[in-house]
Amino acid sequence: MLERRSLGRTGLQVSSLGFGASSLGGVFRDIDESEGIRTVHHALDLGINLIDVAPYYGLTKAETVLGRALRGVQRDRYVLATKCGRYGPEAPDFDFTGDRITRSIDESLGRLGVDHVDLIQAHDVEFGDLDVVVEECIPAMRRAVEAGKARFVGITGLPLEVVLAVVDRVDAGSIDTVLSYCRYGLHDTALLDALPALEAAGIGVINASPLAMGLLTHRGAPAWHPAPKELQAACEAAAELCERRGARIEKLAVQYAVAELRIASTLVSSASPARMQSNVEALSDPIDEELLADVLAVLEPVHNQSWPSGIQEN
Ligand code: NAD
Repeated sequence: MLERRSLGRTGLQVSSLGFGASSLGGVFRDIDESEGIRTVHHALDLGINLIDVAPYYGLTKAETVLGRALRGVQRDRYVLATKCGRYGPEAPDFDFTGDRITRSIDESLGRLGVDHVDLIQAHDVEFGDLDVVVEECIPAMRRAVEAGKARFVGITGLPLEVVLAVVDRVDAGSIDTVLSYCRYGLHDTALLDALPALEAAGIGVINASPLAMGLLTHRGAPAWHPAPKELQAACEAAAELCERRGARIEKLAVQYAVAELRIASTLVSSASPARMQSNVEALSDPIDEELLADVLAVLEPVHNQSWPSGIQEN
C-alpha cells in the first residue's frame, strides 16, 4: 500500500504518489479514452488517492474524461483537486477575476460529476495580474469553500518567487496548499529553498512533474516543452546513461522525488495503466545510489536551470 502523508494543516491524508490527470486530456499524445479511464481505476486500486486535474488540460477534455472515470466510484476513495483561472490558447487564456472563477468552479463540478472538490487551485498565478489573483481569485475560491463546493484552497505555478510573493500578500490561512511543478526532481531542487516559508505558513506542498513533463523519460520531451535546449540535452544524456546501465530513468526520477518527506505528494501523469503501475512499483525498490550519483553528475551543469514563465517572460 502506498504511504499516506499529511497535506499541510488540511487534515487530508494523501498518497505519496498522486495521479496527474493532464494525460487524460491528450496533452502528451492522443489517448484512447477507455484506456485513460482504466488508468484512473488502476491508480485507485494501486493505493493512489490524490487526483489532480484542470479545465485547461485538453481544454476541458481531461475533466470530462475524469468525470466519466469517477462515476460510481465511492467519493471517499479519492481526494480531488482541480484548478481555475487558466483556460486555453484562445483569449482570454487566463482570467482570475472573481465572477469567472466562481463560474469556472461550477463548470468543473459539472464536468467532474461531483458536488464538491477537495482542493480548488488558482492555475499558474504567474500569468495573472497578482492584484487580481490576491484580491479577486483567492476570495472567490474561499467563497466556494463557504458554499461547500470545495474544501481547501491552493495556488500553483512555476516561478517559486512569484508563488511565495502571493503567499506573502494574503491573510494567514487563506491558502492551504501550493502545487509546484518541475522544481523538485533529478534536474532541479529549487523547491527545497521555498519549503521553510511554506511550512511556516502551514501550507501543504504538492510537487508535480517528477519526470519534468517528459524531459526525464526515454521517449523524451514533447515538441512544446519550454525547457532550454541545454537542459533538454542534459536530460537526454541522463536517460541514455540509464539505458546503458539497463535501468529506466523514469523509475529513478519517481523514486528520487517521492523520497523527500516534506513534500506531501508527487503528481505523475500517464494514461497507461502499465506505466502507472510501474511508477507505484518503483517505490517498493531501494534507490540505486550509484546510478543516482552518476545521473546527478550528468545533470549538475543544468541544475535548477528552469525557464521563464508568465510575468518573468516580459
Ligand atoms: P510528468 O513528470 O508526470 O511527466 C508526464 C510524462 O511522462 C507523460 O508523457 C507520461 O506519459 C510519461 N510517463 C509517466 N510515467 C511514465 C513511465 N513509467 N514510463 C515512461 N513514461 C512515463 O509531468 P506532468 O504530466 O506535467 O505532471 C503530472 C501532473 O502534475 C499533471 O497531470 C498535473 O496534474 C500536475 N501538474 C500541474 C501543473 C500546474 O498546476 N501548473 C503543472 C504541471 C503538472
